[in-house]
Amino acid sequence: MRVTEKDIIGEVKFNIARDAFEKPVFCHGRKAIEIIKKMRLGSAIFNYEVWKCPKCKEEYLDSKQAEKFDTLLSMKKMLNKRVIEIERAVNFDGKTFFLRFPKEITKNWHKGITADIKVLSSDEFFVKVNV
Ligand SMILES: [Zn+2]
Repeated sequence: MRVTEKDIIGEVKFNIARDAFEKPVFCHGRKAIEIIKKMRLGSAIFNYEVWKCPKCKEEYLDSKQAEKFDTLLSMKKMLNKRVIEIERAVNFDGKTFFLRFPKEITKNWHKGITADIKVLSSDEFFVKVNV
């Protein structure tokens, strides 16, 4: 399976490695090298990893990498619709980090609502608030 995405920074095609579950991919009888690639989403740059064969330069995604790549592509599609970017200070209350949402976008929010957080890495998240 090949994935093409024109807005990815750098090279653009991947093979989804068959039977590869979060482990090194082998190509040409050798272990592929894990490299970090970048994708731009709005003004933010997100990292994702691929396996690259040192001989033929072919790139592969294992199942974990493919999952993150899929999430990034979904976010990208969503952001392409209409995106408002808001920079917020990350606050710390002595125990937990949190951020405040601007009043303008929380008019329909009420006490007891929940949020689903998709964790891409320790500093990359996708949050869906269930109003
Ligand atoms: Zn190869």
